[in-house]
Amino acid sequence: MKSLCLPSLSIVIPVYNEMESIIPLLHEIQNVLSNQKGTYELIIVDDGSTDLTFKKLIEYRSLHPDFVIIKLRKNFGKSAALNAAFRFASSELVITMDGDLQDDPNEIPNFITKMEEGYDLVSGWKYLRNDPITKTLPSKLFNYLTRIITGVNLHDFNCGYKCYKKVVLDTIDLYGEMHRYIPALAAWNGFKITEIKVNHRPRQFGRSKFGSNRLFKGVLDLITVKFLTNYSSRPLHIFGLLGIISFLTGFIIGLYLLSLKYFQNANIGDRPLLLLAVLLIFIGLQFFSIGLLGEMITLRGHRDVRVNQYVETIVGENIV
Ligand code: UDP
Ligand code: MG
Repeated sequence: MKSLCLPSLSIVIPVYNEMESIIPLLHEIQNVLSNQKGTYELIIVDDGSTDLTFKKLIEYRSLHPDFVIIKLRKNFGKSAALNAAFRFASSELVITMDGDLQDDPNEIPNFITKMEEGYDLVSGWKYLRNDPITKTLPSKLFNYLTRIITGVNLHDFNCGYKCYKKVVLDTIDLYGEMHRYIPALAAWNGFKITEIKVNHRPRQFGRSKFGSNRLFKGVLDLITVKFLTNYSSRPLHIFGLLGIISFLTGFIIGLYLLSLKYFQNANIGDRPLLLLAVLLIFIGLQFFSIGLLGEMITLRGHRDVRVNQYVETIVGENIV
């Protein structure tokens, strides 16, 4: 293992029904970090476990009080669990890892070494994945689609093992299942991102919490992310474009029908094409109004935006 001069580091672990895995994992992490310099805080989020996870954590904490447990009222999902911990974390560097012993704590120093090269986010890549094919195949497809649509070149977006500068997390609000898209959202905010290969171990206890329907949900979330990253600051660009296309098509069809009526004296009143023209014109106007409404919402939202979100450094801050 590489020697490690730990900066102030927070390690965040979301757990949902991981009663067999979590205590051995805490042992492993504490072993890896005990002979390193620097300080760290360990934050475990119990995402509404219904097994003995919380009880085990409390018992273990009475002997080793150097970690924090955040207990959520019910199972809100991995994104919400991570979000709760991100709001709590006080260090400049945050590592997230799964609580099922699949992520190897010996990789922690490697993440930090990579971060020291100047990255804002280092994502894990489970290049030899120890999961059944029913998971790995959809995952390959998901990663391929995400790479194409977001333009972010990572092999393994969904890897729970990642290291971030805290400032990256301050610019992102996680909800639903958006944790898979943190790299895409971070890239959109202009942060520097890379990946390292990580050792991935088979799940020994309990079962995976994500079924095969995650591909379907993932694709829907992907559309949201694409929209949020490309158009959320200018909604009229997409809705206005759709509106203009629809309106113009309807308008041209209308002109065509009008010319038939005046030049050929044709009866256009009962033509389905007339209905289509009216429909397209109305849909076009609707799209346009939605875009304008979106612009108004964006403007209001921007009044609250922390200006720092866009600032990397300020040179000469003290010069008046
Ligand atoms: N997890 C969570 N809340 C949930 C589902 C999962 O906190 O609603 C945690 C889970 O306990 C584990 C991590 O998220 O620590 C990754 O879950 P899992 O191992 O089931 O995902 P997989 O490895 O199958 O992708
Ligand atoms: Mg797992």
